[in-house]
Amino acid sequence: MTDWGAEAGVLRAELSACSEPGPGVTRLPFTPEHRATLKILTARMEAAGLTVTLDAAGTLIGRAEEPPGSKTLLLGSHQDSVREGGAYDGIMGVVLPLLALEKLRADGSVLPVSVEILAFADEEGVRFPTALVGSRALAGTVDPAVLEMCDATWISLRTVMREFGLDPDQVHSLGRKPSEIMGFIETHIEQGPVLERADQPLGLVTSICGIERHQITLTGETGHAGTLPMEGRRDALVGAAALVTEVNRLARTTPDLRGTVGAREVSPNVVNAVPREVRMTAEFRSPEDDTREAAGAALHCFAEELAVETGLRVICTRSYAQPA
Ligand SMILES: [Zn+2]
Repeated sequence: MTDWGAEAGVLRAELSACSEPGPGVTRLPFTPEHRATLKILTARMEAAGLTVTLDAAGTLIGRAEEPPGSKTLLLGSHQDSVREGGAYDGIMGVVLPLLALEKLRADGSVLPVSVEILAFADEEGVRFPTALVGSRALAGTVDPAVLEMCDATWISLRTVMREFGLDPDQVHSLGRKPSEIMGFIETHIEQGPVLERADQPLGLVTSICGIERHQITLTGETGHAGTLPMEGRRDALVGAAALVTEVNRLARTTPDLRGTVGAREVSPNVVNAVPREVRMTAEFRSPEDDTREAAGAALHCFAEELAVETGLRVICTRSYAQPA
């Protein structure tokens, strides 16, 4: 009897070793580490009886055609990682369907549909300032301009793909016909503590949060920390603290809303001067676009009131919005 859990652990460990040196897993697309991963996956897919190809976007595809002419169920995830990423992020979504297919075969089950297991080259967008090229290619929504984007060493995505043996000019032709696709299933490690806290092994994703980001600048007046009385101070950081608290309050009191102030710069940022200016971010996420947009609007109202109350100049702009 095969211990499929142990089998998953062994394969996962083998793939984790395909990493740049250092803590965690660092596997960027179109690198020797990516190549090593493809070698292991290809061998395993072929051993499972799959027909293996590498498409023009660098997506490794293992296909089981049965019965011939049937619709195709796609399963898979990304092979790449963030820098010093987790050992399960992405790659587990390739390993699990592969082992599931092996198990079905071992059990003598016949698949009612064709199946493809996919390992996308680049999901994270760590190396190039673009992400999801492989999955966008399948959806037929790749912007050809991304091929000219460069990594930190000023090599373009197009050049890197060519050097990896791919034909970037064919990326636009990878779009699948929706009529031939049954669906897409991705298994992915949970990137939060909810399932673990609930002691549950598995959850179903019902939505992906929409995101909006705000850039906020508060301007007041600096002065000596000792000689400037508290009365009449226009301290930009005190105003910023109120905004941080409001973002947190909004998120804590609204179901399914997340609110975070993740970045802030203080000027002059010295111990004995009243802060003149603070630049900060605010980010809201929610599976409900209305909820997220209402939070953004509430933050802008709060910023206007804060300006009136404190005498600070507060400029609040929404810099990014992505629907759920
Ligand atoms: Zn991931």
